Parts: sequence; structure tokens; C-alpha cells
Amino acid sequence: MRRKGFLFSLAAQSAATATTAGGARASDDAADLIVRGATIHSVDPRRPSPEAFAVREGRFIEVGSLEAALRHAGSRTRVLDLSGRTVLPGLIDSHLHLMGVGLDLQHVDLTHAATLEEVVRRTLAYAATSPDAWLLGDGWDQNLWPGGAFPTHDSLSAVLPSRPVVLTRVDGHALLANAKAMQLAGIDAATKEPPGGRIVHDAAGQPTGVFIDNAMLLIERAIPAATPEQLHRAALAAIRECHRCGITAIGEARTSASHLAVLEKMGESGELDLRVYAMLGDDPELLGRWFAQGPRAGAYDDRLWVRAVKMYVDGALGSRGAALLAPYDDDAGNRGLLLAPQEHVRDVCMRALASGFQACTHAIGDRGNRVVLDAYEAALAARPTHDHRFRVEHAQVLSPQDIPRFAKLGIIPSMQATHQISDMAWARQRLGPERVRGAYAWRSLLDTGVIIPNGTDAPVEPVNSLRTFHASIARQDEHNLPAAGWYPEQRMTRDEALKSMTIWGAHGTFRENVIGSIAAGKHADFVVMDRDWLAIVPEDVMETKILATYLGGEQVYDAATDRSAMRSRASRRGGCCGRSA
Ligand SMILES: [Zn+2]
Repeated sequence: MRRKGFLFSLAAQSAATATTAGGARASDDAADLIVRGATIHSVDPRRPSPEAFAVREGRFIEVGSLEAALRHAGSRTRVLDLSGRTVLPGLIDSHLHLMGVGLDLQHVDLTHAATLEEVVRRTLAYAATSPDAWLLGDGWDQNLWPGGAFPTHDSLSAVLPSRPVVLTRVDGHALLANAKAMQLAGIDAATKEPPGGRIVHDAAGQPTGVFIDNAMLLIERAIPAATPEQLHRAALAAIRECHRCGITAIGEARTSASHLAVLEKMGESGELDLRVYAMLGDDPELLGRWFAQGPRAGAYDDRLWVRAVKMYVDGALGSRGAALLAPYDDDAGNRGLLLAPQEHVRDVCMRALASGFQACTHAIGDRGNRVVLDAYEAALAARPTHDHRFRVEHAQVLSPQDIPRFAKLGIIPSMQATHQISDMAWARQRLGPERVRGAYAWRSLLDTGVIIPNGTDAPVEPVNSLRTFHASIARQDEHNLPAAGWYPEQRMTRDEALKSMTIWGAHGTFRENVIGSIAAGKHADFVVMDRDWLAIVPEDVMETKILATYLGGEQVYDAATDRSAMRSRASRRGGCCGRSA
């Protein structure tokens, strides 16, 4: 039975059933916590379905039989009987933008707006409540509107003539600016397009307000930067959002010096309740400094790693910025945009290898992916490295001949299952019936022997781990459509999907020895949910309630105390983890 609005209180339940065991064990080496009575999926092949586990000083110390776990009970041990709930390792989102998520929570949300008029209406309502000089928003998608054409700024400028407005497209690869924003940014009909960017003009040669890929910078550089205080607030909000979704570790898929300073400060003050694997942005000064000093691993009790570089080689499919080998099927002559030449990727990779850093490069189109694979291959040939774990972020559209190259070169495709369900309405139009078969090709890749770390790319997609698991096993949207799944032959198994959200994510970030499974010696990061993802039908996955999230043995999220926050978010974001209100 589906009980809408019913909130299972883990706090009350644990208070009722938690017992202190009066064992003889001395308190100094006794467990702090013993978890029993749950269906536990450890994602550890040595003991995939343990009966119980014991935790001490933030780590699993025993994972196995109930009897073995109880042997660690002492006078102060809390025993949590989860009476049939399911426990998974803390989930890992391998590609997410933490600051983006946090700042986004403070912007006007334009996702699922059905028309441009709705975008304008929502922005106007937001303007009435926002104290900020610049009005920022995101999530619009012209593919959802009648006609599907890019918007123009006129109606927005008419209602907001004196406040700058910048509204970013759902994929983050295009924006709509109003007249005031363009004026403050110094844009007019004579403004030149930067390489790898496009300014859309009307028939009279005036900018329409739409700026694509590198041209977005012309507007974005006029927006005042977020202050450290704003970033701190953003990070705290984003971490809360991760906990709601059972996420305890992330790959931060591009970080700057200012973001890193905020994360460091939070680590020092004990506020960094998330295991962050930061990928340095492709900025010469930042890379120069880090390549000179070398990587940083597991700072603040394994809360912060800095040992990767994030590059971009092309744009996105939605805005036709992804670099394709042959022109778009729905835009003859356009092969998309290459944002960085192969030589640049290769050179950064060589320096990364020399300094002990991992390379992670965004590639969406089949040409973008080939450029990155070629660059990686050249760098690795010049500097053979045993355990490089170079990653391609997204690996979204692949030429069939490039699919086996990942396994051959030891390159990890870091993919985001929910991009498939967000793009499926129009991906075939962009790519055509043949090329689309190499898109979001999880099965084809897995069959070559690679692993796929999964993620959301939030805020591009919501930080919703339910959607990730469901899309991975069903290739269906939240409403279980299309009924047969979109190119269902590319689905992951449940087991693979769970690994992609746990141990494969740990491996993709060199953290498989400390997180990613419930195993003795690892950090006690785990999530409690009300149903078993490995047993329920796919249609029920989106109904899952995340009940509690634990990081290092401490409870960082309790659904029972999160009612009002989640209610408002659920309606804003079209449903979030554990809520169907
Ligand atoms: Zn990203």
C-alpha cells in the first residue's frame, strides 16, 4: 500500500528498539553502533548480504553474522534494529557540481516551464521576492515549448527593463539574457563571437539574448561573483540536499580556487559532512600551483581529495554544441563546437601524469569523445602509467569503433543515467536512427569490461538518486515511460546500477579502499531506505523513501525531521528523494 504523506520516523523507531547490551566487553574497544534486522546489500563480494554490522569510531569494524556483530556490544553500544528496512552503502554521485547545486537552490527554478510566457511569469514572481541586484535562474528548455525554437529576450526585457536577468538553459550550455544584462555586459550588434561560442542574432542583426557555450562568458563575466559567505551557504545547502538523497560522497566536477578555499575552511571547522573528490578546473594558474605541490588525499578524515583535473572538449547535445563527426540530423552543416584542441588535452594530461593527477574530460559528441580518447592515448603512450584511471565525463555519444577503446586503454566512462531520460525526447532527432545507437550505450560499454561510475551532473539534473537508479535499470522517466524503455537493450542490471552508485564511483575516484561498500575497515557511510532496490519492480523505485543517511557512523539525515523542507522542494523540483507529495 502506498501511504502518501506518511513519514516513517527512524528516530522514534530507534529510540523504541535501541537497547544497550550489557555485554562484558570493556567499553574502550566496544562498538558505538550495531545495526541489525535490515536487508543489507554490502556491495562487497566477500559478504554481499550480511546480517548485521558493528561500527566504532566512524568505521565498520565487523560485517557479517548477527552473532559476530553482537560480540562487539558493550555497555554504551547502541543497537539499532531496522525491522526489515534496507541498508545500502552511502551512495556516491561521481559527477556533480556542489556549489552549482547550492547556488541553484537560491535561483528561480525554470525546469519544466511549458512556454516562454511561463518562464517570464516565474521570473517576475521571483523578482518580487529577491533582494539581489542580478536575477538569476536556470532550467529552461525550449524543446518543451510549442515549436521548440530558441527564445528571444523581448518579453523578458519588457517586464523587467531595469534589472539584469540571466536565465541558463537546462543543460548549462546556453543562456537567455535580458536587455539590461546585455547592456551591463557591453553587448551590442557589433560584439564578436568568441571561439567555441555563438551569439544568436535576429534578422536585423541584433542579439536575441541567447548565448551558447563560450559566448555565455560574455554575459556571465558581468555577474558579480558569489562571495565566500554565499558559497559557504550554498555548500551547506547542497550537502543537505545530498544527504536527503542518501549521498555521502561526490565527485566535484570542476572546482576553482575560491570554491576550494570554502571547502577547506569547512573541513577545518568540521562542517564538511560529505566526502568531496575535487576536480581542478582547467585554469593555468590553478593547475600550475597544484601540479607543483602535488595531490592532496583524504584531508579532514577523508572528507576532501584534490587529485584530478577537469577539462571540457565540447558542449551539449540539447544546444547542438556537442562535437559530432558528421552534421546534426536536424541541423545540416552543423557539427557542433570543439572547445579545446586535442593537443591541449594531451598536454594537460602529460603534466597531470607527471604530478600524480587524474584527468577527467567532458565529452558529449562522438567527435568530442574521439578527440579525448586520442589525446589520452597519446599522453599515455608518451608517459606510460599503470594506474591512471583517466575518465571521460558523460561519454554520451560514441562511434561504435570507439566503444572498445575505453577498456583497451583503461579509460573510465563516467556517465549520468538521468541524462538519457532527460534527452530521449529529442536525442534521436539530433543524431538520427543509426548514430543514436551509440548514445547512452551503457550495456555496450559494460560488455567490454569497463566500470561506469554513475552520477547526476546536478544541477543539470536534480540530485535525485532514485531517478539515477530507476533510469539505469529501466531507461524510463519518472512516470515509467516509454513503457518498453528507450533502447532498452542498453539497460544496466540492478546489481550493476547499485555498483555504479557505490563501489564503481569509489574506484573512479581512487577511494575504493575507504568507501563504496559496507566492509570492515571502511568508513561507516550508509543509507537506510524503506524498500529493497534489488527486489522491487522498477515501477516502485521512484516511490522509495530515503529514511536516514549516516556518514562516518553519525546520522546526518533523518527523514522524520525533514517534512516541511521536502514538501516545498518536491513541488518545485518535480519530486525529490523519498517524497511523492
Ligand atoms: Zn558536469
